[in-house]
Amino acid sequence: MTHLLDVRDLVVDYVLADRRVRALDGASLTMASGESVALVGESGSGKSTLGSAAGRLLPPSADLRSGDIAVLGESLAGLSNARIRQVRRERLGFVFQDPIGALDPTMRIGRQMRLAQGDRGSIRDQLERVRLNDPERVMRAFPHQLSGGMAQRVGIAMALSARPRLLVADEPTAALDSQVRQDVLDTVFALAAEAGTGILLLTHDLSAVSRRCSRMAVMYGGRVVEDGPTAEVLSSPLHPYTAALARSVPGNTARGERLESIPGRPPVLTSESAGCAFAARCAFAEDRCRNERPVPTRVDGRTVLCHRVAEGVS
Ligand code: ATP
Ligand code: MG
Repeated sequence: MTHLLDVRDLVVDYVLADRRVRALDGASLTMASGESVALVGESGSGKSTLGSAAGRLLPPSADLRSGDIAVLGESLAGLSNARIRQVRRERLGFVFQDPIGALDPTMRIGRQMRLAQGDRGSIRDQLERVRLNDPERVMRAFPHQLSGGMAQRVGIAMALSARPRLLVADEPTAALDSQVRQDVLDTVFALAAEAGTGILLLTHDLSAVSRRCSRMAVMYGGRVVEDGPTAEVLSSPLHPYTAALARSVPGNTARGERLESIPGRPPVLTSESAGCAFAARCAFAEDRCRNERPVPTRVDGRTVLCHRVAEGVS
């Protein structure tokens, strides 16, 4: 079966003046057509790097050292610039965190949507579909005249206008108030489901994930450490990091502990980690966890990177 997205053993560094930061340290993730997958993990775990890599949109300071990314079976590695632009235009859509910043500040919305989309359908209809109820006014507005929620709806309309096969949404609602946030997410998921578009939702917000994404992939230290059906990953996590994360979801605990309650800081890696990246914060860590890299293990429909799970200890 051809995957919608197939990220395999991806290693990406950012090259700074005086050092390298390893952002992805052998990250793997696959998505089936039309699937909704949440990519979660603390700040710095590599979510945005993976999401950008899915469209070969990494900044120039990024060095893709090894691994491969394929969209619908087509590897992005060797593609010409013309072909990659075509793949982005026809198959991919992106929505980012800062909705107003993603738009051109000097141009009215209607004009920038026309320029971005050629004549694909009516812009007015597209704005109505994302539930902007005064599309004429929105089309005449400049980005700074829109609220964050309205601007993000415009961004979503633009990202979905070509009916992409995959929408990468990177913290699309982080800048919005909580009520607006729910409405915007509901709109994205409803429109994507209607069009058969797969969604890769990158977020810290586990409560947004639990009822909207059928699968969840948990990142830590530049690797996907657990991946499986969302409800099961949250109710019976196998990786110790996922367990800590799951306890932070309101409703999963009496008091809704927060993510920050995991003792220690996430790692900033400068090269391949010797053992498990979570070992320094893991209550179960043994010597082996510090010295040997865990390999992916399949358990009950999940893929987990943990020595204990590999041995059936959990
Ligand atoms: P957040 O939740 O804060 O958005 P993230 O999970 O998206 O975090 P990334 O932005 O992919 O994580 O970052 C992974 C690592 O790479 C971090 O250590 C980060 O500091 C570093 N990094 C990301 N972008 C750059 C960049 N342009 N230049 C240098 N380092 C970067
Ligand atoms: Mg990010």
